[in-house]
Amino acid sequence: MLKTEQLLQWYKQNYRELPWRESRDPYRIWISEIMLQQTTVTAVKPFYERFLKRFSTVKKLANAPLGDVLEYWSGLGYYSRARNLHKAAQEIAVHDFPKSYQKLIELSGFGPYTARAVASFAFSEPVGVLDGNVIRFLSRYHAKKVEWWRPSERAKLQVLADEWVQGFDSHDVNQALIEIGATICVAQNPRCLSCPLMKTCASVGTPNVHLLPLKKSRKENEIWLWQIDVFSNEGKYAFVQNRPDKNSLPVLKNDWVWPGTAKRVMSVPKTFDFKHAVTHHNIYVSVVRKNSRLAKFKQEDVKWLKQSDIKKINPTSLINKAFSYL
Ligand code: SF4
Repeated sequence: MLKTEQLLQWYKQNYRELPWRESRDPYRIWISEIMLQQTTVTAVKPFYERFLKRFSTVKKLANAPLGDVLEYWSGLGYYSRARNLHKAAQEIAVHDFPKSYQKLIELSGFGPYTARAVASFAFSEPVGVLDGNVIRFLSRYHAKKVEWWRPSERAKLQVLADEWVQGFDSHDVNQALIEIGATICVAQNPRCLSCPLMKTCASVGTPNVHLLPLKKSRKENEIWLWQIDVFSNEGKYAFVQNRPDKNSLPVLKNDWVWPGTAKRVMSVPKTFDFKHAVTHHNIYVSVVRKNSRLAKFKQEDVKWLKQSDIKKINPTSLINKAFSYL
């Protein structure tokens, strides 16, 4: 029996029922894929159901105010993804869902992974889908020492992933590859004895089982000091756009944030009001209340917003923490 047939047979008997797995609707698949890039399957389920209850079609998402979309995204982080989701929904609502990888990748926020996932799961286009689970499985099964985080190296795994789906329904094969990586060929202590492909795996019984996939070296942690200037007037607060320049925060690019200055420092500051960590950035925040009569902003550079309003356009925990501190 071919390796792909063995994999599919195992998958039929062992797959987990997930709300997005039963659907061939490109909209639902797309939403689930973007959410799954943020967090785990278990954590995504309630967000996914709530989001689709509110925005049940791509047209409803396209026509909704951005503030509503961000509100329903709240808790998942990476708000730029929600913004791209909204933008792409508006592009799709005009022409309908593109059905091929080549067309999907032209949409806002569609990277190679998302475009392939939608093309395969919704339209069975014979393209392989390379997520962390599949990278782990393919690296071990084929004993490939590939620096998967580099595009040129990742392309080697993409060739393998594409080969696996040829001659089969790519929807089933890709789902099965993801499943075997998520449940059998797991990161720590892979369950080789329960693996349906143990007999043909090039790594089983060798150190490669633990050495592969190659590990990307972690980014060095950065320490940032952010002084935020709180100007308030009749229950409203001044917010400015975090435009990339030398004093801007390295995260929340182009989001509306408190005015102030941010700088990278070499050690943890002696005084600060609260700390916030985002990816490899440790941000130490000091809060300074300012006299709003002294505020000097150009009209177009500032938005005076109530707490409930800023929560709609930038519902990140960094903003919320500052309010809790105030
Ligand atoms: S035999 Fe082990 S290492 Fe090989 S694919 Fe299966 S679980 Fe992964």
